[in-house]
Order: sequence, then C-alpha cells, then structure tokens
Amino acid sequence: MLLKEIKNIFHTELDVLYGKEEVSSFFYMLIEHYFNLERFVLAIQPELVISKEQETTIFKALSELKLEHPIQHIIGTSHFMEMDFMVNPHVLIPRPETEELVRWIIDDAKNAKKSLTILDMGTGSGCIPISLDTYLTDAKVSGLDISLDALEVAKENNKRHGTQVIFFQADMLNLKHEIKYDIIVSNPPYVRELEKVDMRNNVIDHEPRIALFVPDEDPLKFYRAIVSFASKYLNEKGCLYLEINQYLGTEMKLLLQEYEFQTIELRKDMYGNDRMLKGSKK
Ligand code: GLN
Repeated sequence: MLLKEIKNIFHTELDVLYGKEEVSSFFYMLIEHYFNLERFVLAIQPELVISKEQETTIFKALSELKLEHPIQHIIGTSHFMEMDFMVNPHVLIPRPETEELVRWIIDDAKNAKKSLTILDMGTGSGCIPISLDTYLTDAKVSGLDISLDALEVAKENNKRHGTQVIFFQADMLNLKHEIKYDIIVSNPPYVRELEKVDMRNNVIDHEPRIALFVPDEDPLKFYRAIVSFASKYLNEKGCLYLEINQYLGTEMKLLLQEYEFQTIELRKDMYGNDRMLKGSKK
C-alpha cells in the first residue's frame, strides 16, 4: 500500500477525534518510530510503498489511537529535554510544562560553585532527575516514588541514559529521612476531580490516577507534605521548585510563606498559566 494512502486513512478515521494537525503529527511520529522514516519522506517520495508487515504495524497503532490510547504508550517513549524516556501506564507522560521547570533549575544551578544534591519527590518516569543529572553533571541526584512499578520505569530510564540517579521507594506523605539537600523539586498530583471535565480521555483513561488527582476538598495534600519536608531537609539557602495547579498559585504562595520560604517566585508556563513556584530557605 502507498504510504500516502495510509496517511489519508489516518485522517479519515481520526480527524474527528483529534483534529487534522494532531493526526498528522501522530502519523509522522509512528512512521519515524516504526520505519525510521523522516517526516519529509512523502514530500520527496510521494509514491513510497510500505510492506504488508509494516501495514499491520501501522494499522494496529491506528486502532489504538481510535481507542484514545496516548501516542506515547503506543510507541513506548516520550520526548523530554531532548531525551527519549520509556513510559508505560504506570507513569505520567512527561509534559512540556515540566521541561520549563527543569530548565529553571538548570539555569539557576549551572554555575554553582559546588556539587549540588537534588531530590525529586514523586519521580514517576524519572524524567526530572535524569535530565537534571544529565545537564548538571556535578550534581548528585535522587528520586523517590511510592510506586514500585513507576520506579522500575525510572530505573530503566536511568540505565538508558547512563545516569547515576539514586531511586528509592518512599511515601511522601509519611517520609522519614536523614539527609539534607540543596534542591528539592516535585511535580506531585494536583488535578482536582472537578477539573476532570476539562481533561481528555487519553489522559483520564490511560494515565495513572495516583500521579494526577487530588480530592477537591484537599487539593494541597501533597504540597503540604512536600513544603513541610523541604523546610526541614533543605540546606541553608537551598531551593524548592514545584510544578503547581494553575488555579492555586495564590494558595501555594501562602503555603510557602507559612513555612518561611524566602524570595518566592511564581512563574507562568508557555500557555500563560501559573505553573511553577520557587522558594528558598534562609
Ligand atoms: N499537568 C498534568 C495534566 O494536566 C498534571 C500533572 C500533575 O498532576 N502533576 O495532565
């Protein structure tokens, strides 16, 4: 079958669900992942034919997309900070907003005079600590998660990238600890049940609830634990970086003030939403 015919089938079957532009992007991601074909291939080889076997592969992906499986689960990887991370339904798919948080840390930390110690709380795929370990070569980076399934993914990603992040299991709501850090970072669950109406099925049905949702009546549940922990386990002048719920910026700033964090800074993400917060210890 001609590759361009397959592209047309993708549009006929999926445009109603995702829109033309996103379907094109899925199609190119798939041919790149499965057949190692670059996205401009159709422009230079409009009559390109693919084999029966390749047809089966790409139609299987099409049927998964129809069921609203995330594209990252279909290809098994997600791009983050110019790196490919293994993902599966046990971990949150890395988001572009989280890259902005990681870049903020790297910008602040790249000229540090000493080797920094960093902890990521609720690490999931490990994308945050692994990219920090990659870009801040002198840092000593750790990541914790309550989910052993998630930690397995994180450790696999650590291996893939040749990074030295120390991953360990712990419950951030009940954390006993000894060591202090220079930087603590977290992107904990923060989506309220009431916000589900704004979310897409591929997120609600296929990403881990444990990594996403918090009760409507206690949306800062994880942040209280993290901020309290950070107030005790950050070194002098250490910094806390958080990804936050866009609607709770004010509440989050108050929480950091309550724990006497200094120079509190709230930043917007690329979509103009309050998404990142930094505070430092005295
Ligand atoms: N930003 C993610 C989403 O909208 C949520 C991440 C989180 O809960 N930490 O799906």
